[in-house]
Formats: sequence, C-alpha cells, structure tokens
Amino acid sequence: MARLFVTCAVTGAETTRAQCPALPITPAEIAAEAKRAYDAGASILHLHVRRDDGTPTQDKAIFAEAIARISDACPILIEMTTGGAVGMSDEERLQPVELSPRLASLDCGSVNFGDDILPNSLPQMRAYARRMKAAETKPTLECFDLGHVHNARMLIGEGLIDPPHHFSFVLGVPGAVPADMRTLLAMIDALPPGAIWSGIGVGGRGSAFMNPATVLLGGNPRVGFEDNIYLRKGIKAESNGQFVDRVVHLIREMGHEVATVDDTKKLLGLR
Ligand code: ZN
Repeated sequence: MARLFVTCAVTGAETTRAQCPALPITPAEIAAEAKRAYDAGASILHLHVRRDDGTPTQDKAIFAEAIARISDACPILIEMTTGGAVGMSDEERLQPVELSPRLASLDCGSVNFGDDILPNSLPQMRAYARRMKAAETKPTLECFDLGHVHNARMLIGEGLIDPPHHFSFVLGVPGAVPADMRTLLAMIDALPPGAIWSGIGVGGRGSAFMNPATVLLGGNPRVGFEDNIYLRKGIKAESNGQFVDRVVHLIREMGHEVATVDDTKKLLGLR
C-alpha cells in the first residue's frame, strides 16, 4: 500500500470564466476553492493568480494576498507557478519565488503549447533552479516531454536540485506528448533513482486517462480547473473539490492511502 498525495490546480493561466463558470479568479475565490480541495483530501495547491479581469499575472502582491487568504482558510501546501503564462519574461515568471515559497514549479524544457511556444532553455532552467535554491524553495520538475526528464537529470547532475526529486509529468498538451500508457511508462523509466512523481492529464480525455493511470502506477495525481473542467463528457464541474473527491475515491478503491499535509511534507522532505 502506498501513500499518495493529491495536488489541485484550482485556476491555472489559460482557463476562462466563459469556459468554466466556477473558475476562481480573485484571491478570495481562490482561497475558497483551495479549502474545498483541502477538505476533499488534496495536500498541495498549485497556485496561479489572476487580475480582477481574469487575465493571468505573476504579480507578487497578488500572490502574497492569495497566500495569506489560503493560509487563513486551510493548511494546504502551496506550490507557486513559475511557468506563468505564454509570453511572460523570466523576471515576471520568477516573481513568486521572491516570496520564498516552500514549493514552486520549474518547467524542464521548451514546449509547443497549441499555437504558442513556452521557452525554457537550459540556461533559463539553471537560473530558475539557482533562484529557488537561494530561496529554499523546492522545485517541482515539470516535464511536458520525455526530453524534459533528461534535462532535469542534467540539472540534478550539476548539483542544482536537492533530493528528494519531485517530477511532475504533464501529458496531453497539444504540441507535446500524448496522454497514453506507453508515453507515461517511458517517462517513468527515465526518472532518476528514488524520484517521486506526480501525473497530470490535460483536457477531459487527458485527465480521464492520467488520473487512474497515475494512481495505478503509484504516482501522485493532480486534478483541477487548470488541467480539465469536465467532470464527464459534456458536464462541467461546479468546484475543484469534485475532482479531488473523485481521485481520492480512486486512490482508496485501488487500495492506497491518501497522504495528509504532514505525510506530504515528509515525502518531499520539506522544511
Ligand atoms: Zn500551472
């Protein structure tokens, strides 16, 4: 029996209110959804923030407000994005790290994102890793492609990332690898010894594959409106909590336990 932790990405950068009426936008709305996710069993919140008009931002002040409200609402661990949104500069993307968060995502390679490109060169990745190390922030190594796992291993080999190494596989981005079993197994095979991994599937189909496949293979599932808005075909979720509920049920049905916040801190070696 394994103890698996659930991450919830409640808002992301790309999903819109028009697509998803329940999408949280303001720090207060994000905190309310974080609490729903926590109450349903999530122990990590993957955090993006928005301006009041719904556009994505890496504004440190808005992150700080969101963190204060989330921490008032529940003790969920907060993982800040440094992916930001397509078109942002490194300095913009890195703003949340100035708040010295416990966790932050680190994109491990450039990737086509539909018609756009998210650039992450090796020098950029090294700079992000150094900034996180200085801030005592643990990077979540986000891999959108098999080559990204090897990029991350390069950074590990250079001593830029301390163990235990936490990878996050994002499958199903249009322009990157598909969400299917042979791809997921190839990425798991490429992990360094002792690594921990989370699994993310993009879109309704990607999530429908990745949630059960991740749990089946002993990984840690991520759910939430950043990745998918559909509870089932044609039916939109009314809260992120519904996705967490469902994946928690799946974890228990497969004979595993759901990790608490304290368990997750231990697993990831967090301060
Ligand atoms: Zn994100």
